[in-house]
Amino acid sequence: MDVDPGMQRRLLDLAAVDTELTQLRHRLGALPEEKDVERLARERNAAKDAAVAIGISIDDLDTDIRRLEGEVDAVRRRLERDQQLLAAGSAPAKQLSEIQHEVGSLERRQALLEDEMLGVMEQREALQSDHDRAGAQLDHVESQLVEAEKLVQAAVGDLDERIADRTTARAAVVGDIDSALIEAYDRQRERSGVGAALLRARRCGGCRLELDRGEIARIAAAPPTALIRCSECGTILVRTFESGL
Ligand SMILES: [Zn+2]
Repeated sequence: MDVDPGMQRRLLDLAAVDTELTQLRHRLGALPEEKDVERLARERNAAKDAAVAIGISIDDLDTDIRRLEGEVDAVRRRLERDQQLLAAGSAPAKQLSEIQHEVGSLERRQALLEDEMLGVMEQREALQSDHDRAGAQLDHVESQLVEAEKLVQAAVGDLDERIADRTTARAAVVGDIDSALIEAYDRQRERSGVGAALLRARRCGGCRLELDRGEIARIAAAPPTALIRCSECGTILVRTFESGL
């Protein structure tokens, strides 16, 4: 394929804009801000789980408290009844003595239940402050997550804008180049990742290999309009004064 040297050099502009586009797309796919969002989302889930687990423990304690309240009530009612019977003094002596005995054990039972209740209430209080702390931690992580998501949106917006700008620039360069040459360039780019590159100091700008003397002689002998390719990677080699020919 014969190509005007000016148009060959235009391929370098195309390769430059394609490199920019590749880098921008790569950055879009590997945003550090995205990693922050993932980490914070994990932290948020852990904080939520912790708060939920404490909440469940508090519910369990509330169930214990209600049970203890019921038992204390029952003991209290029984005591009142016994005390009324004792005050009336109308029961037979043997029964009164049994009631007296029961009052003693009910009072001990009541004291035990009240102690137990106190312990459970203290536990509940401690868990409540754990729960408050976990809630505050959850709020904190959630607001960090919202901020991190905003940063991702901003970064994506910025990159999208630059990709759109470079895509427009690419179209302008493509407009200057023969479609057959663009096809050759695109095919090579699919194969090796680089469509065209500068031959600089006898080195292929695509695969970075230094061309041997015979190859350099062949290229130097070719007319300026000849389309040269790297014998190693196939990249279209554009010759300039930097080529070392
Ligand atoms: Zn090469």
